[in-house]
Amino acid sequence: MGVGGPGGLYGKVYILRLGHRPQRDKRITSHVALVARAFGANGFILEGVCDEAVERTIDRISRCWGGKLYYRCGVDGVRFIEEWRRGGGQVIHLTMYGVPLREVLGEVKSSPSPKLVVVGAEKVDPIYYRVSDYNVSIGTQPHSEVAALAILLDRLLDGAWERMEFPDARLRIIPSPRGKHVIGDC
Ligand code: SAM
Repeated sequence: MGVGGPGGLYGKVYILRLGHRPQRDKRITSHVALVARAFGANGFILEGVCDEAVERTIDRISRCWGGKLYYRCGVDGVRFIEEWRRGGGQVIHLTMYGVPLREVLGEVKSSPSPKLVVVGAEKVDPIYYRVSDYNVSIGTQPHSEVAALAILLDRLLDGAWERMEFPDARLRIIPSPRGKHVIGDC
């Protein structure tokens, strides 16, 4: 479903996750990927390493709940960004030190270029502040890559998550005021 409508950015947003530490970050990195999928991004790229646990989570959720999230891992982050930009894409690095989202959102949305959204883990190498087109903050308080990404995708895609459907889903929730109502099998 073309949630963004003609000319919208839906279908053009990918996430680059930096600094994943397989021993410590499996859960939060998986959550970044799940937010990417549920809030309308199209792909999730893990910098530096591969982690089967993260990949398994993406596969399992996509198999049961539908949708397809492009996945790649073990990439060189800086090189990936440079290639993305050479190919005409834009890079938005989420960091609490950046400029407030509201100051750049209009400009970012007015460009039809595919977007690469970069999120960090514990420490982000200063080079990412230089190679990105935008360093953007979601408030100036430290919080979480999961929260920052959810808010960015909501604003960038005009709340696409509310209208998204995953046609190949094996499981569907029937919203209910109380209790759990799920149809299908997976
Ligand atoms: N101290 C790290 C650094 O060097 O930037 C940040 C660590 S934070 C736990 C992990 C990631 O969450 C960051 O790299 C950033 O992508 C995201 N993040 C946290 N707070 C944010 C905020 N206020 N605005 C935008 N992104 C934020």
